[in-house]
Order: sequence, then C-alpha cells, then structure tokens
Amino acid sequence: MIAGIGYQGIGMTSQRTRERLVERLRQRGIQDPRVLDAIRNTPRHIFVDEALASRAYEDTALPIGHGQTISQPFIVALMTQALLERQPMNKVLEIGTGSGYQTAILAQLVKRVYSVERIEALLKLARMRLRALKLKNAHPRHCDGGMGLPQYAPYDGIIVTAAPEYIPESLIEQLVVGGHMILPYGQRNRQQLVRVVRTPHGYETERLESVSFVPLLGGTQ
Ligand code: SAH
Repeated sequence: MIAGIGYQGIGMTSQRTRERLVERLRQRGIQDPRVLDAIRNTPRHIFVDEALASRAYEDTALPIGHGQTISQPFIVALMTQALLERQPMNKVLEIGTGSGYQTAILAQLVKRVYSVERIEALLKLARMRLRALKLKNAHPRHCDGGMGLPQYAPYDGIIVTAAPEYIPESLIEQLVVGGHMILPYGQRNRQQLVRVVRTPHGYETERLESVSFVPLLGGTQ
C-alpha cells in the first residue's frame, strides 16, 4: 500500500482543513474558481509521506525525499492560474512530476497532461497516486525533461517545477504560437517565476513572483 492512500483517520478533518487552505489562497489573490475547486478536490495528504500528512494542508512546501519538495499550494495555484489565463489548454507538459500533486491539479483542468520526472523512485509513487485518483488523462514518464518532450509537441502550455538558470529556448519551441510557459528561473535565492508567451516571431516574458525552487538538473536516476 502506498503511504497515505489507505489513510482513513484523517479523512474526517481533511475536508475542513482543505477549505481553510482554499480560503487562504483566495486571500492571497487566487481568484480562478476552477483552480480553487481543483485544490479543494485534491487530497494533498496522499502526495506526502504519512509522517507529514497532518501538515499537508498548510500553505508550505514539504520534503518528498531525494532532496526534492512538493511545491507550496499557493505557488501551485498561482502557476496553474497563470497557465489557464487567456486561452484554453488542451495539451500541457509539466517538467518535474515530483510527488504528482501539480500533475493531479492540472489533470482536472486540461484535457491531457504529460509530466516528466528524472528520479524514477518519485515517478513510480506519483504514478500510483494518479492511478488511485483515476486521473487517466495524466501521462507521467521517467526521463530528463530539460529539453522538453518533443515527441508530443506542440503544447498549449508548459509548466516547469524546477528552476533552470536561464529560460530554455528548446522549450519555447515546443509551444504553439500563443501558448504559455510558466517557469521559475535564475540562481538559487534569486529566482523569478515568469510567464513566457510564444509569439509569431519570438516570445514575451512577464514577471509573476519571487520564488525558491529546487534546480532543474540533467540526466536520470
Ligand atoms: N510538481 C512537483 C514539484 C516537485 S520538485 C510537485 O508538485 O510535487 C521538482 C521536481 O523536478 C523534482 O522531483 C526533480 O527531480 C524534478 N526535476 C529536476 N530536473 C528535472 C529534469 N531535467 N527533468 C525532469 N524532472 C526534473
């Protein structure tokens, strides 16, 4: 059994604590009701180790092993809201599956999600959780996503959940014209979350927030 999927005990309180989290996100400026609903409907406690389940509805990043973290709910909501703004998203690529939480949120809001993760152990757990939630339109894969996933391109949107130092041009090329990429980039402690929109002749970027993500790394393990 996966840590947290056989949990009955905390089910009773989790609906209330989830509602509190949604309220907090609303206060922090998340307005898209689709995003708030997805957060409300997603059991974040099954995406973390059982020992951390009681903290799953705090608005904070938590460790998921292998030196990685499940992103802070506010950041997940902000990235998802920014992705969905302005145009419909059918096919989306996520780079950095991690726990699978952001994937699960996306799978409820777009038609098809491809998600790549370089650490096999994390990917396996994420795949089991997505299956348990019956999110059949989520397609997790074990590979290095630093260069994207060209075989299914172009994407309407790309979300990168680990930070490269610079905006990777190879990812922009995998967007449709008008498509959005939401990504953090920069050096540790000085990262910015931006929206990159592919235009007919290049791209435009818009700064969203100062953030702190784990680095985008090369290779698989
Ligand atoms: N979206 C995740 C966040 C996980 S942290 C969640 O909600 O839990 C970022 C993840 O990106 C880590 O699991 C890390 O292993 C992965 N990662 C880093 N570089 C990568 C790369 N080049 N390709 C694929 N995944 C990568």
